[in-house]
Amino acid sequence: MAEEWVQQVQNEVNTLEKLEKYINVTDDERKAINTLKTKWGTTPYFASLMDKDDPNCPIRKQVIPSMKEKVNEFGMDDYLVWKENRATEEVRPDSIARQYKDRIAFTVIEVCGIYCRHCFRREIVTEDDLQLRFDVEEGLAWIREHSEIRDVLITGGDPLLLSDDKLEYLISSLREIPHIEMIRIGSRLPIVLPQRITNGLMKAIGGFHKVPVWINTQCNNAKELTEETEKAIFKLMGGGINVGNQAVLLKGVNDNVPAFRELHQKLLRTRIRPYYVFYCEPAPGIDHFRTPVEKGAELIRDALRGHTTGLAQPMYVLATNIGKIPLMPDYYIMDKNDKEYTLRNHLGQTTKIPNMPE
Ligand SMILES: *Cc1c(COP(=O)(O)O)cnc(C)c1O
Ligand code: SF4
Repeated sequence: MAEEWVQQVQNEVNTLEKLEKYINVTDDERKAINTLKTKWGTTPYFASLMDKDDPNCPIRKQVIPSMKEKVNEFGMDDYLVWKENRATEEVRPDSIARQYKDRIAFTVIEVCGIYCRHCFRREIVTEDDLQLRFDVEEGLAWIREHSEIRDVLITGGDPLLLSDDKLEYLISSLREIPHIEMIRIGSRLPIVLPQRITNGLMKAIGGFHKVPVWINTQCNNAKELTEETEKAIFKLMGGGINVGNQAVLLKGVNDNVPAFRELHQKLLRTRIRPYYVFYCEPAPGIDHFRTPVEKGAELIRDALRGHTTGLAQPMYVLATNIGKIPLMPDYYIMDKNDKEYTLRNHLGQTTKIPNMPE
């Protein structure tokens, strides 16, 4: 019999009939599923976390298509060509997206464990608007030839959907390249399919090595974190793999103070280190998830800074074609002059420290 995680993938919840086993589908949800030509679906495990009766359930919003995806008032057309610098002069395989000198994003697969409705790569992942060829060998050859690359971020799709054998080959091939110092894997599976973290996977990618592997997952609401996730993360860490989170700021999912704070506290309790919170990117068809740009910085100010453990503080960034731009709250320095700085804390109290000449 196939492994449990493989069965989960084979039994993907991606039709109205299957969805109805988990929730009471609303008329709006039914209409979107029947009308939109979009790839959607999730694992049975993640579907079981949805609220049966509440259409505003943060997990339902991420899983079930919405007619609002037809609207594109504020999104950019051909978003990925712009964002991933696919129209620049440097010749690169389709699998390599580059914004920095020393690191690249390497796409190795187009399928996912969940087709997030807010995905900024939807032109590739759910809508099939942008046809690209993701050839692992071609990408590896490019990386071998570029000795300035020291950090490879493996992305998709969801790279952990590759078989253990394919992952072992990919990771060991990268580790053999002398200039590669670290490998990162971007995967939602620790959240949507924690059953994927098997002994076989740990054998393929874990264990002591001079070239460490980091996993960055994506969890956007505390409801997504379960005992299964805790165990999967513990197993990853036991094999020497650090786990970070890259949340997306999503309207109705995590854009209020209690939800934002609970998410970050529960991530830490699950041993996942909050790394980034991304502004929801201006890709087409996801206007309904997007907040004003300032919102993330305000939430860090009002929900996290000073209010909870320092380790729970992510960096809020806006991902663009020229790299990630940090947007942090900047209310701390109230005044400065040659003599002193006036500083403010999260409670609005102020204090002064002397300034120091160069
Ligand atoms: C996000 C990203 C990286 C990694 O950025 P870090 O800030 O180092 O996490 C690298 N390359 C591309 C193209 C990216 O989008
Ligand atoms: S798992 Fe990642 S790539 Fe796949 S749909 Fe979700 S956000 Fe997009």
